[in-house]
Amino acid sequence: MKSVPQKEVAEQAVEYRWEVPAGLLHPDLPYRVLEGPPLLLKIKPLQKSQVAKVAGMEGDGVELHLKGDLTVEYPCDRCLKPAPETLSLDYQVRLLPQHLWENLSFEAREGEVDGWEYLPYDGESIPLMEVLLIPVLLALPSKHLCRPDCKGLCPTCGHDLNEGPCGCEDQEVDPRWEALLRLKPALQGGEEGKGADSKKDPRGPR
Ligand SMILES: [Zn+2]
Ligand SMILES: [Zn+2]
Repeated sequence: MKSVPQKEVAEQAVEYRWEVPAGLLHPDLPYRVLEGPPLLLKIKPLQKSQVAKVAGMEGDGVELHLKGDLTVEYPCDRCLKPAPETLSLDYQVRLLPQHLWENLSFEAREGEVDGWEYLPYDGESIPLMEVLLIPVLLALPSKHLCRPDCKGLCPTCGHDLNEGPCGCEDQEVDPRWEALLRLKPALQGGEEGKGADSKKDPRGPR
């Protein structure tokens, strides 16, 4: 289930045990939903007066409450291998049809007027996956590691250091020689700089 038809919730509150479809949460984002226990999803219709109060005219709208644990998999900050993270979600939001939602001020949409955040929808089906994206992004921890001691990738060759050393460390340059080695490309650049290109560059040869 990726959406709920408006007519199913137009008359009364409905509760679902929602099994979020496994797979990418959004085609442009690296978050893959893994199979897990269903989320609790409550949807209830807004009263016409509730809609009128915030949108200035009567119409449909729904209130949605989403709660439960969701496991998503995405690249480890250090080694970039996909790693799972279980997020605790508890999110409430109201949805208004696009034409009504457009009447809301920025502050009203963001929940600064009546404490409710408002999102637009087409008025016909409630887009669960789009709604879910918001609490997921909010719940992502600032640090995401495949394991606490992940060694990450070698900055030189990109080898996954969790799989063992790559040998780059052995080739580390004696710091006394580093300055000399840095000079080398500069000298080469100087040679190239003497060509016709240097006349076009207002900064002159580097
Ligand atoms: Zn890692
Ligand atoms: Zn390396």
